[in-house]
Amino acid sequence: MTELLYMPDTESNYIRSFQAKILFTGRDHVVLDRTAFYPEGGGQPSDTGIISWDGGSSRVIKVEKKGKVIHRLEGSIPDPGAIVTGEINWDNRYEHMKLHTAQHLFSAVVYDLFGGKTVGNQIYSDYSRVDFRPVNLSAEDILDIQAEVNRLIGEEHPISVYKAHRDDIGDMEGVNRVDLSLIPGSIRELRVIDIDGYDVCPCAGTHVRNTGEIRGVEVTRMENKGRDKQRVYYELIDSVSE
Ligand SMILES: [Zn+2]
Repeated sequence: MTELLYMPDTESNYIRSFQAKILFTGRDHVVLDRTAFYPEGGGQPSDTGIISWDGGSSRVIKVEKKGKVIHRLEGSIPDPGAIVTGEINWDNRYEHMKLHTAQHLFSAVVYDLFGGKTVGNQIYSDYSRVDFRPVNLSAEDILDIQAEVNRLIGEEHPISVYKAHRDDIGDMEGVNRVDLSLIPGSIRELRVIDIDGYDVCPCAGTHVRNTGEIRGVEVTRMENKGRDKQRVYYELIDSVSE
């Protein structure tokens, strides 16, 4: 079992390099005893980067969770037992962290203002999309949502990450948009992302430590997906003009 170094708290999301031991190898991949690379999942893309060891280095082109955490390499494969240094492509990861944390804000705001639940999301390298249902958002509503998300960013709310028992989560402030019945009952302890008590949501992704780091968002497009589902696309912007 690979220890996921980015899981315990918000600060661990900022680990860019780490040391680990090779447990197993395959034709094009390695399994480590610990990793800070995020494996693709939950709408967040895989990290990429480099692993290096005494005598070599290879590019990490994809990380997947298939029971084990598989690091797919381009280049030579180190031997089992080797100690390696992993380095994450930080620019990409940090972009994912900001886009993903922004998604929590969009989800919270759309629920608060319109009662719409988040039913899907996907992060890309420089934009993101999130699906809401049931909603009937107008272009004006979108501007209100964008303004509210940017207000929460401008207020620089701290974000904390911790574990909570699923039976306790229902009573916590800010969890109203979460449908716990969608999470398998066998999972008793959940990793919770808490945006300053405003939004509390179980999630296994990576996040920034403060909403202010996102700096600003702009909705670029909206699509109707069937009768009662809408897809909203957004990007990060450096400053908010309003
Ligand atoms: Zn998340």
